[in-house]
Amino acid sequence: MYAEEGTLAHKICELMVGVRFGLSTQEKMDKAMSQLKQQELYSDEMLRTAEFYTDYLSEKANTFHSTPFVRPEVRVEFTEFVPEGFGTCDCIMIGDDRLHITDYKHGKGVRVDSKDNPQMKLYALGALIKYRPLYKIERVSMAIVQPRISDDVSEFEMSADDLMKWAEEYVRPRAKAAYEGTGTFCPGDHCRFCKGKIQCRARAEKYSAYADFKDFIPVDNLPADKKEEAIRTNTGMPKLLTNQELAELLPVARDLKQWASELEEYIRGAMLDGQQFPGWKLVDGRSSRSFKDEEKVKQLMLIAFGAAESDLYTEPKFKSVADIEKQFGKAKVGKVLKDQILKTPGKPTLAPESDGRAEFSAAGSDFAGVTTSK
Ligand code: SF4
Repeated sequence: MYAEEGTLAHKICELMVGVRFGLSTQEKMDKAMSQLKQQELYSDEMLRTAEFYTDYLSEKANTFHSTPFVRPEVRVEFTEFVPEGFGTCDCIMIGDDRLHITDYKHGKGVRVDSKDNPQMKLYALGALIKYRPLYKIERVSMAIVQPRISDDVSEFEMSADDLMKWAEEYVRPRAKAAYEGTGTFCPGDHCRFCKGKIQCRARAEKYSAYADFKDFIPVDNLPADKKEEAIRTNTGMPKLLTNQELAELLPVARDLKQWASELEEYIRGAMLDGQQFPGWKLVDGRSSRSFKDEEKVKQLMLIAFGAAESDLYTEPKFKSVADIEKQFGKAKVGKVLKDQILKTPGKPTLAPESDGRAEFSAAGSDFAGVTTSK
């Protein structure tokens, strides 16, 4: 369902970008929109997030000295580095010796950073291959817009030469090995996006010391149809776990989960007491928001949006800040209710030092949400 929702949101983005940059007409967009609005997964929030995305692109276009070349939804290929490799850039902009690609993400689960992001770099590579013969491109910038998670757009820039060097020296050999099935598996944070993550043996081994408690099966003991695969992977074991193996792993995984959360809680508490743990820091946890005075909010919403009382309640409670924003638009609600939204900091959360968020400050937290009154 999330994928279909994302596809629909992307379609709306594409239509809006088309009109904003003069590639299509309002009339065509209205016609297409009236059909898209019939779809079950459609929500008005998609219009607002697409507008946020389009506003970002307009602002970006204004940073070029002359009007850039702009195209939404461009299919790019990078097969000379990754066999059968291709992707779609949500938006491409070229001008001032610069290629800028933007990726719109509709999900609100995991925030994705564009810094050194391999997927973004591959898409940028594909765009560079496609447009370098036509335009002079010295710099390549990449942006990820995730309006349902943050108003901050994650941007990253590198030289076109460095991107080509990365493709040549890093991507090409790894892609070749992966394609031929001779590469090594490298479990890590990126696995969360992998379709084979549950059955991947390398990942299971990483998290469960699987190899320590499962007997190695010599190649000769394997059934004939598994032998060839085992020799090819140099492990003597197939790459995918069986249902039996998965079932045996589940209790281990549950214990690990318990142990991991206890470990995290212990380190978090110790860090709050001032102890140091190399490579880790505390950052502000997810904060929660609420309205200061619901009566006042009602009046303001009535004046600014003509909202009826029923628009503001999810029986029997007043709607949350997020729901009100979803219904009436984040930017305008933020303006109208700026003095009515209380932000309660979440409890400090552990994050690796490489995490982009600012380090948690006990002093800053003590004063969070405090406003001066006259
Ligand atoms: S889950 Fe396995 S196959 Fe997928 S990215 Fe991780 S290591 Fe690679």
